[in-house]
Amino acid sequence: MSKKGLKQYQEKRNFSKTPEPSGRIKKSDDKPLFVIQKHDSRSLHYDFRLEDEGVLKSWAIPKGPSTNPADKQLAIQTEDHPLDYATFEGTIPEGNYGAGSVIVWDIGTYTNLKEHKSIAQSIQDGELTIWLEGKKLQGGYALIKTNYLGKDTSWLLIKMNDDKADRNHVITEELPDSVLSPHKEIS
Ligand code: MN
Repeated sequence: MSKKGLKQYQEKRNFSKTPEPSGRIKKSDDKPLFVIQKHDSRSLHYDFRLEDEGVLKSWAIPKGPSTNPADKQLAIQTEDHPLDYATFEGTIPEGNYGAGSVIVWDIGTYTNLKEHKSIAQSIQDGELTIWLEGKKLQGGYALIKTNYLGKDTSWLLIKMNDDKADRNHVITEELPDSVLSPHKEIS
């Protein structure tokens, strides 16, 4: 993956005015990262990001992730972000793209559950199944592309029915804080 994958990300931002990273390509040796950033921009949402081929593939989830397999959470695919965005927390100043506060709500690694298909191919095919090992979220999750409102960026994030599923708690409400900075919370 070349820097070309980050062109859209970089074009939207003025790095002399926002504290966000400008992006450099790193190679990670271990399992790929996943991160969920809680972002209090024009409207509060959760940015779900998966490391693949040197960038973070990204979706914005208005309601946030759920541990209940009955929930189908709308996830809008957004531009690839640089790997070093994964630990970004801070405030994007007014007048900049995505102005508002960002905390790392969850972070960990993931495994591709489709053994014979790459993440890139799964994204192209519109169906991704992954196993998350996060501090808050664990277990299988599916991301399924839909044609909601005719938009080709619309996906659904759905908890798979496994022993990590939990129908009795709303995890975003019960665990609202940053996993990197104790007691840091935005609402
Ligand atoms: Mn966002």
